[in-house]
Amino acid sequence: MVTRRPNIVIAISIVLASAILAIAVWVLAQMRDDALRRAQDSVFNVSLLVERDVSRNLEIYDLSLRAVIEGLKQPGVLDLTPAIRQMVLFDGSASAKYMGSILVTDETGNVRFDSQASPPRQINLADRDYFKVQRDSPNVGLFISHPFVPKVTGKDVSIALSRRITRPDGSFAGVVVGTMRLTYFHSLFAGMHLGAGGSMALMLSDGTMLMRRPYDPKIIGINLTGTANYSRFTQQPSGDFFGTAAIDGVERWYAFRHIDMYPLILDVALSTRDIFVEWRRRAWIIGTLIAALDVTIIALAVLFSQQMRHRRAAEEELRVLARTDGLTGLFNRRTFEEEAEEEWRRAQRNAWPLSMLLIDVDSFKGFNDLYGHSAGDEALIGVARCISQSVRRPGDTAARYGGEEFAVLLPNTDETGAMHIAEKIRAAIQALQLRHVASSHHVLTVSIGVATARGATFATNRALVNAADEALYQAKDAGRNRALCYGATTRATHNAAVAAGQDTKAKNAL
Ligand code: GH3
Ligand code: MG
Ligand code: MG
Repeated sequence: MVTRRPNIVIAISIVLASAILAIAVWVLAQMRDDALRRAQDSVFNVSLLVERDVSRNLEIYDLSLRAVIEGLKQPGVLDLTPAIRQMVLFDGSASAKYMGSILVTDETGNVRFDSQASPPRQINLADRDYFKVQRDSPNVGLFISHPFVPKVTGKDVSIALSRRITRPDGSFAGVVVGTMRLTYFHSLFAGMHLGAGGSMALMLSDGTMLMRRPYDPKIIGINLTGTANYSRFTQQPSGDFFGTAAIDGVERWYAFRHIDMYPLILDVALSTRDIFVEWRRRAWIIGTLIAALDVTIIALAVLFSQQMRHRRAAEEELRVLARTDGLTGLFNRRTFEEEAEEEWRRAQRNAWPLSMLLIDVDSFKGFNDLYGHSAGDEALIGVARCISQSVRRPGDTAARYGGEEFAVLLPNTDETGAMHIAEKIRAAIQALQLRHVASSHHVLTVSIGVATARGATFATNRALVNAADEALYQAKDAGRNRALCYGATTRATHNAAVAAGQDTKAKNAL
């Protein structure tokens, strides 16, 4: 069935190509989702890891500050020798990595005790935010300062953690403060794998940048309030989203979290480019292969269907050639006999009359002898044209029966109709005025035998042909250039009489 419909081959190939394309698109979409999910997992894990590390260190540091406050409350601590007092107050606290000195100030900001020096270094911290905040409010608890350069060392940007020292009556007695170098965060961030475009940042809840990777000293301490990403960080305790960094304009997938109970926000981000770089490479390869495959399938289908079309056209041409006569283009005898057989059966079934015309060119041997064979062929073509122009009803069949004989089949046509057509053909051929000096009519003419089957007039189709042949013979006998109906040989047509007249004239002329 497929071979009969070239377009179906193309349609099937298009459906197939579309299905392959759809599957490829689906697989690529899945791969893209997977890439994003892996990135989400990895930023989530990194942010969790960093949060844990930061919050644990802050907690340890806070415990040190609390220990100092507790120590100061102990009776008699202030009376100890400076060396013993240092041990009591700062034991185990100053050893934590990245941590600077722990200082205790009085209510005016002067340093009273210093974990790294005894006697303490003479500095006043009254202008620092971590001092003022604790002085002005009794309930701050642990305070984390903005970044600054410590006065005691004059280097290493740090943040400070401070707690208020309160007298038993509730009044302000100073602060205990410890510093933490920002290099701690720097090296913590540096240890994480985030790809070339990844970023991490730690900021205070008020938007102050403490540390960022990629590191740029200029952005430490800047305030991010008002940036799109920061606004999103403040909306929830943790979350993730696609965003573009205000600092470098790179689009990234962000995961952020507020660090435990501290006023700190951490974000970890992978650049969209890094996330999809591998996927994009594979998508190109798969996409190109699929496109090539689809194009090949459709191209092969088009080629195949073209071949099919050509073959069908050739077959059709052969079929037509096998059915027609090469010289005149009319049906050949074999086709005529097939048609006649079929029409015979149809006429029998429907009780229709079926008429047959046998047409024979008059004195054609003489025409050939006089004018040559090719002139004879031309004449036959002219005769065929006259016949087909006179037989126009659908269902009528005209054929070259052999040599210079033609046959016409007229279904559902009675004697009168058939005689009418026969006369039309005869007159048309005579009207061609093809000179034929050897003919008694001077021009090329035909004789036509007509027979009509009606009901049981004839037993077989062949009998009908024989009857038409007999009528033809009688037409020849009666002087040619006339149509005669079988069984009515006496009913010569009007033209037969005219023809007979012409015959006489011709004879007289000779
Ligand atoms: P009649 O009037 O009795 O039919 O005379 P006629 O000469 O036509 O008689 P006949 O049937 O004996 O001659 C038929 C001639 O037609 C023989 C042949 O030379 C010629 N003929 C048959 N087929 C062709 C053809 O295809 N081309 C040409 N040029 N001549 C053909
Ligand atoms: Mg003949
Ligand atoms: Mg003849």
